[in-house]
Amino acid sequence: MARNPRYDVLFEPVQIGPVSAPNRFYQTPHATGMGNMMPNSSVALRALKAEGGWGVVCTEYCSIHPSSDETPYAYLSLWDDEDTLQLAATSKAIHAHGSLAGIELWHGGSHSNNRGTREVALAPMAGSAKYIGPTQVKGMDLTDIDRFRGWHRDAALRAQQAGFDIVYVYAGHDYLPFQFLSPLSNQRQDQYGGSFENRARLLRELIEDTREAIGDRCAVAVRLAIDELHGDHGVTSSGDGRRIIEYLGELPDLWDIALGGSLGNDSCSSRFSSEGYQEQYASEVKSLTSKPVVNVGRFTSPDTMVGQIKRGVQDFIGAARPSIADPFLPHKISQGREDEIRECIGCNICRSANNEGSPLRCTQNPTMGEEWRRGWHPENFKPANQPASMLVIGGGPAGLEAALTLGKRGHQVTLAEASSVLGGRVVRESSLPGLQNWIRVRDYRTYMLGQMENVDIYLDSNLSTADIEEFAADAVVIATGCYWRRDGLGASVSSPLSIRENHNLFTPDDIFNGASISGDILIYDDDHYMMAGALAEMFLAAGHKVRYVSPATTVSSWTAMTDEQDFIQSKLLSMGLSTSFSQKIDKIVENCMYTNCIHSEKPIQHTFENLVLVTGRESNDRVFRELNVPAFRIGDCLVPSSIADAVYSGHKFAREYDEDPVSLIAKRERALLQPNTTLHLEDQA
Ligand code: ADP
Ligand code: SF4
Repeated sequence: MARNPRYDVLFEPVQIGPVSAPNRFYQTPHATGMGNMMPNSSVALRALKAEGGWGVVCTEYCSIHPSSDETPYAYLSLWDDEDTLQLAATSKAIHAHGSLAGIELWHGGSHSNNRGTREVALAPMAGSAKYIGPTQVKGMDLTDIDRFRGWHRDAALRAQQAGFDIVYVYAGHDYLPFQFLSPLSNQRQDQYGGSFENRARLLRELIEDTREAIGDRCAVAVRLAIDELHGDHGVTSSGDGRRIIEYLGELPDLWDIALGGSLGNDSCSSRFSSEGYQEQYASEVKSLTSKPVVNVGRFTSPDTMVGQIKRGVQDFIGAARPSIADPFLPHKISQGREDEIRECIGCNICRSANNEGSPLRCTQNPTMGEEWRRGWHPENFKPANQPASMLVIGGGPAGLEAALTLGKRGHQVTLAEASSVLGGRVVRESSLPGLQNWIRVRDYRTYMLGQMENVDIYLDSNLSTADIEEFAADAVVIATGCYWRRDGLGASVSSPLSIRENHNLFTPDDIFNGASISGDILIYDDDHYMMAGALAEMFLAAGHKVRYVSPATTVSSWTAMTDEQDFIQSKLLSMGLSTSFSQKIDKIVENCMYTNCIHSEKPIQHTFENLVLVTGRESNDRVFRELNVPAFRIGDCLVPSSIADAVYSGHKFAREYDEDPVSLIAKRERALLQPNTTLHLEDQA
């Protein structure tokens, strides 16, 4: 298909200092949870972005020196020549597709715990570290600052040697150069503190050093937190943020504008931000400099992207998450296939991977992170060895993804869904406050399935075991989801409680099925992801008085992994939520829930008008158990988990169906012994 001429502007080349980007699609630096310990996976991931049409592909944060170490989180490093060689593989793979390779040089300052390297942590001022622990950080003296500039310069030279085209000075997300900028972390009395010019001195010097070292061949980019969102005492976009651009605006070759003192603001979830949410900041910078500007905003709509360029908000379309959800987004627009974009839903499961210290995963894109170890490509599928007739039961994320992938492999697929709509849990969950974008999990798949002649979909088809057996498919795939439990079993309770039926006791399923509730609501959360907090928000917005009880010490505690926890708790408290933490359920008798403090065992009674139990879930596997023909379970029917895991489960099943098991063993990154170490297995016998 031909490209819509409306989108031509997105495919114009853009000059960035001495290098030229082939188009405006700019994959900004983003974490992968892979870092220097998973180099093969890293290379394959970035190469795929370039293959998908991103004109600029950047690495994640790359430490310039062992004093910038965030063990156990995965980061790249440019400390020595071996690192240079390793990263050269990334730039080469990106160049192979005609894209520019960018690298984000990083020093974490007081954020670096240095647990791996055991170096002393450095910061503008002596004092507390920005991570919790019994360590403090050393205030940098002028010799430390000189050394730091030397490390940065050396790393820039190595970056150039490794073949990178764009080299970042990273003054965002509260890392070291930003710590010097902010009056909140810099109260030095010398030439690096006090006045604005003094606080900006180190950033200016880093830009100048980098330009002097490599500026003839590489573009020098600055990633700047234009507003740290800590109020008037910190860097604000109308105060010091603006002054930085006025002062240094023409010094680098590109400004990459970030927001906030933490990643949670910059990669804000869709629950708390909409597409293009940073526009006002990017526009302002653009009006103050002649240099190209890039900024993220979870852009997935080509029309919005065109608007960004035409209205002069920025010169590129900055993207991290949209490029994770769909590495081929630029190609799809270029080929007139924009309806096929797998749009990011803004759930931040990708952020949770890094926050948990694990490789990148994505709700929408099950192949993300699997490019090297499983050889999965998001757009290419190995044709079935023997096309078979496949019956998929259940049209939630797992069933839809399985049907789509089986169909792409050439199987004849029939999908039966009991209800009158496709989507399963995403229909329910996307009805919660702020989660509307989650419906994209269904919409992308139903659109794609609608294009396929070898997939038939039947709604209102609650198949019995007899129906399934009679269908006589070559393979039956059960994707019938799960139920929320009503017996108290959850993350902190491992055996069911005896809970008598009570018409004022609800599970999330009851709420989604339209249970009518009046009066005050007690929510007990032993699930810890978004559900209890989102239900609380829904009830508060509808005028209920809501009390939240949990064994955890924060609301929706696991959402700290998706960088949403602060947002959730602040919002709910501002809406009037009352809380009781560290409480583990003991029993429910009539209209009273009894809990014990998890530390002191002290009992508390919570009388309630209505109780919503958000605890564990149980597979809906009745059909599977009663079937007399072999079948495969996938998604929540196999193991209740996140939507991301349900999609992955459906995808993995479909990729692997009828394949030789030996060919399916995932490759592993290996930590290798030194080459001169000789060891023979027989010596160990
Ligand atoms: P998952 O996350 O694993 O995809 P969901 O709960 O989202 O699970 O989806 C399961 C889907 O299966 C729901 O849409 C439900 O209506 C459907 N379903 C459950 N039992 C049957 C059945 N016997 N026949 C057809 N569809 C079913
Ligand atoms: Fe977007 Fe969620 Fe995928 Fe992250 S995990 S890229 S937020 S869909």
